[in-house]
Amino acid sequence: MNDRPTHVRVRFPPSPTGHMHLGSARTALYNYLLAKQTGGKFVFRIEDTDVKRYVPGAEEELINGLKWLGMEWDEGPDIGGPYGPYRQSERKEIYQQYAKQLIDTGHAYYCFCTPERLARVREEQQKRKEPPHYDGTCRRLSKEEAEARVNAGEAHVIRFKTPKEGSTTVHDHLRGDITVENRNLDDYILVKSDGWALYHLATMVDDHLMKISHVIRGSEWLPTFPLHGLIYRAFGWEEPVWIHLSVFLKPSGKGKMSKRESADLIKDGYSIFVKDLRELGYTPEGVVNWISLMGWSYDDHTEFFTLRDLVEKFSIDHLNPAPAAINFSKLDHFNGLHIRALDDRELAKRLLPFFLEKGIDADFETVLKIAPIAKERMATLDEVVPLAEFFFKDTVSPDPDSLVAKGLTAKESAEIAEKAVELLSPLPDMKAAGAEPVMRTYVDSSGFSAGQVFGIMREAVTGQHVSPPLFESMEIIGKDKVIQRLQKAAQLLRMVNQ
Ligand code: GLU
Repeated sequence: MNDRPTHVRVRFPPSPTGHMHLGSARTALYNYLLAKQTGGKFVFRIEDTDVKRYVPGAEEELINGLKWLGMEWDEGPDIGGPYGPYRQSERKEIYQQYAKQLIDTGHAYYCFCTPERLARVREEQQKRKEPPHYDGTCRRLSKEEAEARVNAGEAHVIRFKTPKEGSTTVHDHLRGDITVENRNLDDYILVKSDGWALYHLATMVDDHLMKISHVIRGSEWLPTFPLHGLIYRAFGWEEPVWIHLSVFLKPSGKGKMSKRESADLIKDGYSIFVKDLRELGYTPEGVVNWISLMGWSYDDHTEFFTLRDLVEKFSIDHLNPAPAAINFSKLDHFNGLHIRALDDRELAKRLLPFFLEKGIDADFETVLKIAPIAKERMATLDEVVPLAEFFFKDTVSPDPDSLVAKGLTAKESAEIAEKAVELLSPLPDMKAAGAEPVMRTYVDSSGFSAGQVFGIMREAVTGQHVSPPLFESMEIIGKDKVIQRLQKAAQLLRMVNQ
């Protein structure tokens, strides 16, 4: 713990281009944890310069997603901070100024090639089976000529002047040194013809100006990582600690998740999107626990972690760069554990909306009574509805055939229901502590099994095959309704043809 980095400043800089998915949630989490455990700062930045890919509402979803998962930021577009603005669309001039600096120092150049010409070049390269790359035409222009053409208003982009000789080595904290031959690197575009900087420039400039100490990001940036190192070096800036996280594989472990597959998931009650997981009844605690272990481990056996535990136990040195398969049954497992770890009041608070959303007129006080008896039987919060909706019904409608206990006739089953009415009616109330012993004594003396007797009672009282524990449920439903439901079941059973 003593070797933790100091003066940590990390960032989560999503582009508002779609739904917040597990990958971004995990990246945010690891950054957040490093900040919190070191007393550092967690910076939230919006990278919204790509107007074409901008999705309205995506930013709001990111904000809600982060907050729901419990990650608050120290600096960001909504709360400001000493290094703002925290929205790239408000930083255009800053990027232009730094692009100019690269041109002045000979690390970048203006390029006037038209899209048509570039398409032709690419086609020819394809014919020659070469990887697509810029052919360097404008790299050879003199500075004077280029500036004259810019001043004359000719459309242009700004490209990085990648060294063509030798090699570049960058260092990833998890993967070690990564070396590429410079001839394999392209002259990437830094500023587009509309004057907007692309990621390669904008994000490097922001990370530097915002004094980011650790860049923890997705592995999709590995191919351009050497370029990013070169850009830092061209400016003469000190590089952050770079960490590229593992890739997520689809549940089968074979290949990356496609859009189509992620759309199919929802049919099984799963999703890779944070907002869906919330609606599907997953808890932020369960999701955080689950994603924390997709690329990090504490030891070879501890798996249950709250966000607070993670702040204490997380370590960037235990991150694992190997691909991680998305395992939804693990999510169910963790979610169940965290549901059971919630105190009753908190659990009831979270369960109530699931009833209301289904149009069930549930009240908090009853849900509070249900919470402790239902929590053992739920992997997701939404499961409370089919499990416990009978509590809010005036009457239940059990299927007469399902009231017949296994191995018994309808007549025998009816007699059991009638017996239950007879034994429970004299009790002052339906407290489990009073009703259960009475019915157990009956089971012992009747020759019927507990499964048969309680099975009939469960169907009769709840109208369901599966429910929270029977006697606790009866206590919540109350004596009058329990007796009525048992009587009705007996009548139904009397009408079943043998
Ligand atoms: N805006 C980039 C993205 O959403 C940020 C990547 C990074 O962390 O540098 O992919």
